[in-house]
Amino acid sequence: MPQPTREQQELLREAAASAAKNAYAPYSGFHVGAALLFDDGSIVTGCNVENISYGLTICAERSAAVKALSESGATRKIVAVAITNLNDAASPPCGACRQVLAEFVTEDAVVYFADGKGGMTAVPFSQLLPHSFADWKSDARR
Ligand code: ZN
Repeated sequence: MPQPTREQQELLREAAASAAKNAYAPYSGFHVGAALLFDDGSIVTGCNVENISYGLTICAERSAAVKALSESGATRKIVAVAITNLNDAASPPCGACRQVLAEFVTEDAVVYFADGKGGMTAVPFSQLLPHSFADWKSDARR
């Protein structure tokens, strides 16, 4: 799968920023949006949804993944992810989201996240979660 073009990267970032406007973040005030680009060219977004219990809060990345799966099943693979926020802060995916995304990304998927300096950092997914549980259990999913 070819890497996303500059235009696709910008579309993905804009979709994530738009989703961040829907974040439910009354406790942290941290409004995060994520956009997943699939191998069929479709984009699915998500935002963080906090809960008064704190522990039941779901991040934007997992929100987007669950939304995508609930709409179309696991028929597509994620080729790129963009994560941004309305707080001008860095927002790399947390460990839980990395593990969930590992289930659905292509081998050469790339993650773009806000660097807290007005730009986006691009990191191959394989560098964000090397030796993921999904890698070692991949036979079990087939
Ligand atoms: Zn997360």
